[in-house]
Formats: sequence, structure tokens, C-alpha cells
Amino acid sequence: MSTKRVYLFSEGNATMRDLLGGKGANLAEMTNIGLPVPPGLTVTTEVCTEYYREGKKLPATLMADVKVAVAEVEKITGLGFGAPSKPLLLSVRSGSKFSMPGMMDTVLNLGLNPTTVEAMIAESGNPRFVYDSYRRFIMMFSDVAFGLSKGYFDNEIFSVYKKKVGAVNDLDLTADNLKEICDLFLAHVREGAGREFPTDVYEQLELSIEAVFRSWNNDRAIIYRRTEKIPDEIGTAVTVQAMVYGNMGDDCGTGVAFTRDPSNGEKLLFGEYLMNAQGEDVVAGVRTPVPISELEKQNPEIYKQFTDTCDKLEAHYKEMQDIEFTIQNNKLYMLQCRTGKRTGPAAVRTAVEMVAEGLIDKETAILRVTGSHLDQLLHPRIDPAALAGATLLATGLPASPGAAVGTAIFTADKAAELGVHGGAGQKVILIREETNPDDVHGMLAAQAVLTARGGKTSHAAVVARGFGIPCVAGAESLHVDDKNHVMKVGGHTINEGDTITLDGTSGCIYLGALPLIDPEVSGSFGTLMTWCDEFRRMGVRANADNPRDAKQAMEFGAEGIGLCRTEHMFFETDRLPIVQQLILTKDEAVRQACLDKLEVVQQGDFEGIFEAMDGKPVTIRLIDPPLHEFLPSHETLVREIATLEAQLSVQASPSDADKKTLVEKQALLHEVESMKEANPMMGMRGVRLSIILPGMVIMQTRAILQAAAKLIKAGKKVQPEIMIPLVSTVNELKVVQGQLEAEAKLIVEREGVEIPYMFGTMIEIPRAALTSGEIAEQAQFFSFGTNDLTQMTFGYSRDDAEGKFLQRYVEQKILAVNPFESIDQTGVGRLMKMSVEEGRKARPGLKCGICGEHGGDPDSVIFCHQIGLDYVSCSPFRVPIARLAAAQGAIADRVAVGHRDR
Ligand code: PEP
Ligand code: MG
Repeated sequence: MSTKRVYLFSEGNATMRDLLGGKGANLAEMTNIGLPVPPGLTVTTEVCTEYYREGKKLPATLMADVKVAVAEVEKITGLGFGAPSKPLLLSVRSGSKFSMPGMMDTVLNLGLNPTTVEAMIAESGNPRFVYDSYRRFIMMFSDVAFGLSKGYFDNEIFSVYKKKVGAVNDLDLTADNLKEICDLFLAHVREGAGREFPTDVYEQLELSIEAVFRSWNNDRAIIYRRTEKIPDEIGTAVTVQAMVYGNMGDDCGTGVAFTRDPSNGEKLLFGEYLMNAQGEDVVAGVRTPVPISELEKQNPEIYKQFTDTCDKLEAHYKEMQDIEFTIQNNKLYMLQCRTGKRTGPAAVRTAVEMVAEGLIDKETAILRVTGSHLDQLLHPRIDPAALAGATLLATGLPASPGAAVGTAIFTADKAAELGVHGGAGQKVILIREETNPDDVHGMLAAQAVLTARGGKTSHAAVVARGFGIPCVAGAESLHVDDKNHVMKVGGHTINEGDTITLDGTSGCIYLGALPLIDPEVSGSFGTLMTWCDEFRRMGVRANADNPRDAKQAMEFGAEGIGLCRTEHMFFETDRLPIVQQLILTKDEAVRQACLDKLEVVQQGDFEGIFEAMDGKPVTIRLIDPPLHEFLPSHETLVREIATLEAQLSVQASPSDADKKTLVEKQALLHEVESMKEANPMMGMRGVRLSIILPGMVIMQTRAILQAAAKLIKAGKKVQPEIMIPLVSTVNELKVVQGQLEAEAKLIVEREGVEIPYMFGTMIEIPRAALTSGEIAEQAQFFSFGTNDLTQMTFGYSRDDAEGKFLQRYVEQKILAVNPFESIDQTGVGRLMKMSVEEGRKARPGLKCGICGEHGGDPDSVIFCHQIGLDYVSCSPFRVPIARLAAAQGAIADRVAVGHRDR
């Protein structure tokens, strides 16, 4: 731990993010490379940790250190903090290692009091500007330091006053008006906080620093950190910087800009600004900002300065920058720069183009793209064919790409309650006049966000892009009445629960549900994927149960199927009755007839899948679930029988057909009852079923190998891998695999062709993992079924735990992550690692893969790379994400051994 608590900007640099936060580190870096940055200081993140450790108390000597640093700022600026002439005003902002836009507190114009107000007026000759700054300061400070809501100042005092004097917008207010408003604000503080507004500037500063630390743990910051997986312990730094003013007159302004378009990655300056305004006006959408290209016309000299600075910053950081700037009396100042948050398409395009521009290498490009970026590229879009007949409700700014269909919801709470992450799991679109940080939980649960106000850098736009959900912002023709939960647009009224379609790529909003189509891998995305394939060691396969999914998987670059769940084929309507008959019959001849019928359809299925996979390996898992899953549920049958009995009891002469149905249902109920198990997930399923009822898996093996033989005879290549599930002891495998191998030999002999088949097993029970050495003597390959392995290792039901307690466990940090989403590396992962090692000791080169849901989770994929798996298998739409993560794992190895030879 550093003993130095306060750093001047000139003492830091970009590598000190841990200590100075992103904002502090970048302000230091910009200062050091000679950019025009108002001077300032940063109180370190360690002080924040200290503050909480000491029971929310600032260290006793902190303010003395701050004073020394402020003295330096005074020296550089030639101004005095709290001085009766040439007063220095400060901004106080939060800044953690990871950007958390808008989540914590900020105070601007700090240092104003009756004395400095007078001095500022004398200095600037602009009393309107000074009182405007003063009223903003009183409001912001009292909000963060005394907890007096900004809303009250804004709505109950400011707006009421404006109405009283007939001012339509803020610029209509005179200096005297603003002075009166300041007095009203101060009176509200006296009443609300029970004390006078502090006039001692160092007291103002101390209370503001403390307020920023406190805001680290406000609700919205906590929720944001949880979503973005930012650790709670790292704390925030506080940056204190000399104020520059964008609201001092017509040669002043303020804005935000990105060095590339953050929604599509195009290399152009992208942003918005407002003349004669302070930063909060831009972000809050109080006034509509102007595109940055206008600045070129308005003030070519400043524009040139600005573009030169942006170029310098991008070349320096070799990364897209998000910049906050202010123009004061025709001079440009940089207030912040940080890595720009971007959409998935922008992330991929920027990374690929920066390689072409020679700014970065391929490895860096791959490491810059995340799984959730790619996820956005895999988002659906509206089927263009459907657009001609669609009813366009409105257009707004295309703020975050992708299309979504959902029901209209007008409050964040309701969206959170109904939406995907809420209890109900519905598809909702959150519609707001404009969003603010209190809406984040609702935005997270929504498919998309729609606002009537705000620009492309408004809160809604920035947050939606960060979360990768589509957003249309500033659709001004919407009249959103969020009190009555209704929206009027053109001649249409959209009530809560009505369905709309939103296209965040075009900015269009349509009535009703339009069909969406799936994306494809092309352009920069395709290039990035090719690079990933150059670096990764692990293979990537897909979980697919039918030719359509197999084809989709191939389009996304799958190199095989890692899991084909054969039982899914049994649920199709033409097959289920046969399966049910097979389960229920006591007649051996009927049973065989059912198996024969199923063999024909299964063989057809496998031919389709082998064909689609064009010679790539296909792992087919033999039947796994308990048989009762193919029958109607106990509850359904009991209900149906009760209804039928009630109907028949009131009929004088019930029909024979009805009576027969009743008898059949009663017999079925009897069967279902006899199959009932207290713990079906730990019961008659998987390999156990095959030992007790071998007919089904023998039939499946025949269907697989006959399909393979047929294709081979037609000159095609096939690689079937037959997988036996839920093994816990090698003896189970010996029995079942023995029978199936005998059957396979018969088929090969009969068909007269070589079939390169293999028999292997899933490792999904802890005992199997623990006895992998024995099991590998029998099995020719392993595939980790991490859904069941997690269920059985933790003893958590994979079907119930999430809703019952897992969410709470994650919230309370009993578990760092949901182990069904990301592999628990210390427990389940340890079993996997041990299993791979022991398996390969017994059978050198044993092929090992994973086919649980974790195969599409980036962190889990990297873990699989680290323990030496040969491949991961995931749902077709996650295949590109797995290819990326596998490459990232491999690149991390190369970096670790200092091996960067490409
Ligand atoms: C598993 O358990 O991880 C697995 C892939 O099998 P299933 O999800 O079908 O039980
Ligand atoms: Mg399983």
C-alpha cells in the first residue's frame, strides 16, 4: 500500500489505474503528453478502502495533503481557492479502475460562496454565468453531501420559479432571476439539511470527497458492478480539477466525442456538443446537442485543434477514445479520456481496422473483443421482406444496434419484474421519456430500450450499448405518459403489454411483432474469426440435435458436433406415440415393432446430421432421460381422470368411447405411478436405463452405424462417436459398451464397409471423474457433462436452484458466479482437471471435450483450454464466442511465456 494519498496529475500516468482510477490515470497521461488539461489532483482508491475500513472516516491527514496539492493547482492557474479575487473553482469527480458512467457522484463549481461569487462577477463581468454556476453547485453539492434530492431543486423550485417569471427555457432567466433562485436553494438547504450551506471552501471540498466515496456503495453503483462483474473491494478515486467553463458565453461550449463511431466502428469523429452550456446539460438531455461536425462550420480553428488532439490520443493509446471536452473563451480543454464503450459490431470493426492501420497486432485485436460483443453480432435483425407491410410508429436515433420484439413496459421496476432476468422471463421493451441511472435494473431485464428524448450519448444510449441491447433514443414524436403507462404516437395508442418491434440499427419502431432473422459471420467479423482460428489450439463443436441446427453450427464455424441428444428426436409428434407405446407395452412383439419403427426414423435423422456435418466428427449420445419424461405427467393425468369421471357420473348412459378413454388413462396413471421416483435426476436414467432395458440403445447404435454405412457407400466421410451417458463406474460401461460393440461388429460385417466409429462416455458424475483412470481403459473418449457434474458436485438441482436460492447466493457472494453458467473452477474444475490427467495416463492422447452449457461461456472455455481439453461444444449461436475465447486462452499462454513472434 502506498503511503502517498494524493497525486497531482503531473505525478501520475496511464498505468496507475489501480491507484488513481481510470479518470485520474488518463488525466495524468494526457497532462504528460502535453494536451491542454486543466490542472488537478487525484485522491487514491486506497483512501476509499481506508475510508470504509475506518468506519466511513476520512484519514486525519488527508485534507492537509489535499491542501498542498491544491496549492500547486493555484500556482499553475494563478487563481486562489476561496480567494476574494481570482477565485479557483474545482470539479470533484469519481473514477474507479473500471468506468462506471453516471453511477457515482460529481460536484462542479465547488468553491463558490458569497465572497467568491462577488469575485467571480468582478472577474468575468458576467453575473448571469456566475449565478448559474452557483445554483448548479448548491444543487449538486446538497444532493450528494446532504442527500437533498436534485429533483426537488429542479422541479419544486427551479421550474416553479421559471413558470412564475414566464421563462420558457433556462436561457430566458436573467442574472437577477438566477440570484433569487440561489437564495431559494440556500433556504431549502437550511430547512432540509438543518444547517447553513457551507461557505468554507475546504469544508465543501472535504464533504464532497467523502460524498464521492459514499457513492461507491449507492444502489445503482452496486447493481452496475454486479452486472459488469466489477469487484466491490477496489473502491473509487476522487479527481479534483480546476474548473473550466463551457457556460461563460457564446465562445464557450462543452461536449463529448468518440474517435470512432461507437455504434458501428466507422473511423470518423463522432459526438455532440452544446455552445454556452455545462457538461450536465448534454448528458441529461436538457437541451438537444449538435453533432460534432457542426463545430467545423461554427469554429474551424477549435475544430482543427480538437481533431488533432483526438488523432494524437488515438495514436498514443492505440485504442478508440471517449473524450469529454470544454471550450472556454475559444480555447479547448480536455476533461477526460477513456477507452470508448462500443457495441459489438463497433468492437469487431475497430479491432480489425486497427490491425490494418498498423496500430495493433492480431493478438491485441482478439483480446479486445469480448464474448458479449460477439453476442451482439449474433443478434437477430428484422426480416427485410416484412418491412413493406409493417406499420412504422416512429423513428428515433439508432443508438444501439439489433432488433427486438417485446411488450411495451413504461417503468423500470415493472420491466425488471417481468423481463428476462426477472421472475417472469418475458420479452419486454422498456419505454421511457428518457432514462437515468435509477432505470438501469429495468434496462438490464429488457430486450430493448426506447426513449422519447436524448441523443446518441444520452444515458439510455450509453448504457444500452454497454449492455449490448438494442436502443432507439430521442424518438421525439412519442408522447410517453409513464404515470398512466401509455404512449401515443401518430394516431396510435400503445398501452402497457402491447407488442412492438424496435430496430436499434435503423432507429425505427414498428407496431406489433415483426419476424426477425438470424445474423451471419461476414466482413470484419469473418476476418476476426479467421484470426481466432489461427491462434486457438482447442477445437470448437456444437450441440445440435437436427440437420437444421447442424447446418447453422457449420455456418458459425463448428468443427463437429459435440453433443447430439438423441432423445430430442423422440419428442417430435410423429415419434412420441411410438415411444410411449414402447415404454408401456408388456408384449415383446409390440416392443420390437416399436423399436423397428424408431430405428427407421432415427437412421433418417442421423443420415441428415452426418450429411450436414460433411465428414466432421459427430458425437451422438444414447438415450439419457428417465422414461417418464416421455409420458404425460402424473398431475396432468390425475386432473384429466377427475374431469372425465365427473363428466361420466352425470351422464345417464356414457358412451363406450368415453369409458374406454377413462380406462386407458387410469392404466396410464398406474404405469406413471409405478415409474415415479423421489429423485428422478438421480434415478433410472442414462446408462442405468440401458442396462435394465438394452433394446433402445442397441436400436440407436444400429441406426447410427447403418446411417454411417449408407453415407460411406455413397462416397462420403463420416466420423460417429457414440457416447454413453451418466456412467459412475467402469463396470456399467463394460456391460453396455460390450453389448453395443458386439452389435457394431455385426453391422460392419453385414454392411461390408469400414466405419471409423468410437465408443466413449460422458464424465458427469463425480465418481466417474474420480475413477477416470479405470474408465479410460474402456472409453475411447471423454466428454464432460458439466450440467450434471455441477449438479452432482454441488448437490444443487439444476432445474430448481436458480429460482430458489442461487441468485441470492451470488448476490450475497456466497458464490462468485452461478456455477451453472460459468464453471466452478475450484471444485468442479478440479474434478475435470484430475479426470483429464488420469484418463490420459491410462489412455495416452485420450480425446477430451465438454458438452455442458459451459462450453459457450468465455471464462469456462478459457479454463477448458488451460486444463488441456481437445474441444468445447456449445449451442450453435455460441460457436463464434467459443472460437474467440479459445483463441484468447491460447494468446494468454503465449503472452505468459513471452512468445510473441507473429
Ligand atoms: C450435461 O449434463 O452437462 C449434459 C450435457 O447433459 P444433459 O444436459 O443433457 O444432462
Ligand atoms: Mg447430463
